[in-house]
Amino acid sequence: MPLVPPSESSDVPRRTRPIVAIDGPAGAGKSTLAAHLARRFGLLNLETGAMYRALALKAIENDLDFDEEAPLLALTRYTTITLESSREGNRVLLDRSDVTRRVREPDVTAGASRISVHPGVRAWMVARQRVLGGAGGVVMEGRDIGTAVFPDAEVKIFLDADPSVRGSRRYQQFPGNSPAAPTSEAVLQELKERDTRDRTRADSPLKPAVDAVLIDSTALTLEEVLERAETLVEAHLPSPLGPSR
Ligand code: C5P
Repeated sequence: MPLVPPSESSDVPRRTRPIVAIDGPAGAGKSTLAAHLARRFGLLNLETGAMYRALALKAIENDLDFDEEAPLLALTRYTTITLESSREGNRVLLDRSDVTRRVREPDVTAGASRISVHPGVRAWMVARQRVLGGAGGVVMEGRDIGTAVFPDAEVKIFLDADPSVRGSRRYQQFPGNSPAAPTSEAVLQELKERDTRDRTRADSPLKPAVDAVLIDSTALTLEEVLERAETLVEAHLPSPLGPSR
């Protein structure tokens, strides 16, 4: 059966507000960019990584093996994950409990990376993400938004940076003087492991969509990254004089 992008098929209404897909490796600055674009253009901001993190947390709480797909899929049948978009980022609810901070801890980060290789887990996530963002008016960030979740997204950005730069940015996010803070070497090592797993998995590996605009932030200031991305989004906003307003 020929694939018809939703925006071109006759029976599916065209979106009046765009989907902005932001993909890229860990530490590239996707969340900062997504939160900024959402505020700037009044879009909903959805961090899909938080959904993988929430399921990984539930797997930890149920003592499941991250590498076994079948028990993880069974778990999804009793799992509700909610993302609440706010100015600062996403509030994450797992079965109605607020797990926003917990899902950022290292055991959950490692678990999210490992459960995300399973095709059944990905299919479950993608189905939910399409419901959340399908109407448009969203910035959705992750690893496969432009390639698998919304291949017809109006704006696709692949945000990248050298691993050493991403590692040091991530390291600086840990609160200073915390006894639990990892060393900068450990942060870089963990980031590289996640990258390799994301880029080499069989299902929806991390890679730029063919029509994505690549922004390499290695040598750019935050303002330069924001400016480039804003220009891309502005080109897809409905005209103030057009029929959609
Ligand atoms: O983006 P974040 O670091 O929160 O994502 C956590 C993990 O979830 C990533 O390391 C990646 O393996 C996985 N992920 C994914 N696809 C997405 C979002 C995240 O595989 N769309």
